[in-house]
Amino acid sequence: MLRKGATVGNIALDVRSYSHVIGGVEAKPEAYIERISPTSGRVIARFAEGTAETAAAAIAEARSAFDQGPWPRLSGQERSRVLMRAALAIRERKEELARIDSEEVGKPIRLARNDIEGVIGHFEFAAALALQVHGDAHSNLGPQYTGMVMREPVGVVGMITAWNFPALTYSQKVPYALAAGCTVVLKPSEFTSGSALEISRLLLECGVPTGALNVVTGYGSPVGEALVDSPDVDFISFTGSTATGQRIAAAAANTTKRSSLELGGKGANVVFADADLDDAIDGALFAVFFNSGQVCVSGSRLIVQDSVADEFVARLAERARQLRVGDPGDESTQLGPLIHNIQAEKVLGLIASARSEGADLVMGGERLSEGAYAGGSFIAPTIFDRVTPEMTIFRQEIFGPVLSVVRFSDESEALALANDTEYGLSNAVWTKNVDVAMRMVHGMRAGTVWVNTSTDIGPQMPYGGVGASGYGREMGRAGLDEFTELKTCLIHTGKRAPFLPFAD
Ligand code: NDP
Repeated sequence: MLRKGATVGNIALDVRSYSHVIGGVEAKPEAYIERISPTSGRVIARFAEGTAETAAAAIAEARSAFDQGPWPRLSGQERSRVLMRAALAIRERKEELARIDSEEVGKPIRLARNDIEGVIGHFEFAAALALQVHGDAHSNLGPQYTGMVMREPVGVVGMITAWNFPALTYSQKVPYALAAGCTVVLKPSEFTSGSALEISRLLLECGVPTGALNVVTGYGSPVGEALVDSPDVDFISFTGSTATGQRIAAAAANTTKRSSLELGGKGANVVFADADLDDAIDGALFAVFFNSGQVCVSGSRLIVQDSVADEFVARLAERARQLRVGDPGDESTQLGPLIHNIQAEKVLGLIASARSEGADLVMGGERLSEGAYAGGSFIAPTIFDRVTPEMTIFRQEIFGPVLSVVRFSDESEALALANDTEYGLSNAVWTKNVDVAMRMVHGMRAGTVWVNTSTDIGPQMPYGGVGASGYGREMGRAGLDEFTELKTCLIHTGKRAPFLPFAD
């Protein structure tokens, strides 16, 4: 039931109600999906429930905006100015956008503010990139030839996103595609669509033309599927689980469209005995528990050298016991609830599997449901020691605040453990020995490897995975190139020699 004036913690809220954004207008829906707060169980927002027809209308707008509209035909400088204006407009609304993500995800408000700062960085960087979209000229094909390789926008991009970093994921895709000259139809997660809708409205106010950016909210089936199946969508940019990504890539093949897949992960934090243990503990703690572990680059496997393992685990657990789990709107909260009860139950199931398969529970392992936690989907920060590679928690992505500790004796064992996963998104190595660090960097199968830090990233650096973590890159120059096609042009000057063997 929808209630006006609901509260989350101390924050008074009106239930936010959103329509789709199609062709620059707010299309009135026939039905809504209610977002229940993961903190309190109350309704906090309602999003339009899109249908295949709604998706088709948005695709038609984006197609026409690409084929006939001004956006792909603007100069890079003009597109850059729009994206810069958007960056400024987002900064002005930073607190409001952070509150929306905080409430809908259950993300601590300080983390949500940090996300929006990241969003602004992506818009600024994409604005700079928009000035630099260019190809190559070749003058070494012989004196009568000039070759050109032009970089053109790929067309209409369908985007489908997960719920854990709504605004940030949006900003890893939308400004880069717009900078390239593409038009967009986005389907955000139905749990956390608020910030994508708000930022899209801002973009339209800042000068993105009607139809160039559309948002259809709703479920993967039918809205996401309609984007993937449509012959009028040229490219699919997907962030979500490996299982859904595989289905999407297979379906996209039916219309011969390219896709980029940002999928799950099972990151390793490898700590050698010579590491700065204070830094490594800090990094390991953050990597596994931030956003309550609902992070694709989560360092959910701690691979620590035998000689320091007892001390490391004891000190890590000491720090983890002090983490403040609570209302995400509270400035002091460090961990909020999980996204919904189904996710909490899934994580509890994986915790139960670890217990039954023989891992040592160091701390946590239970649902928090008393007092302030009643009504929310809170799980206590959990550490399992003496996990082995056969155990389910070592192999499966958990997407919750659960750390698996595995011990190693030498470098080759550490590398083998880190690579013993189908995923390949991100790992971290902690050591003061640069030879060891670089051997690990070269040996790890992962899209990103951090050395003596963890989870840091900037808009300049490409991001993506290998193996079951997907393919394609977001962010950096590669993140814009992903939304382009190359066109080759060969120009001949002067009289051409006869085409052999038809010359006679
Ligand atoms: P899902 O794969 O369940 O869903 C992702 C999106 O796809 C949702 O919008 C979903 O809609 C939609 N969808 C589902 N089925 C289809 C379909 N057949 N066709 C088209 N769209 C579909 O992932 P979650 O939202 O549960 O997110 C968690 C996962 O995302 C984790 O595995 C995590 O690792 C991964 N992730 C990866 C990141 C990366 O950059 N590598 C970053 C963030 C998360 P609906 O919700 O209605 O099903």
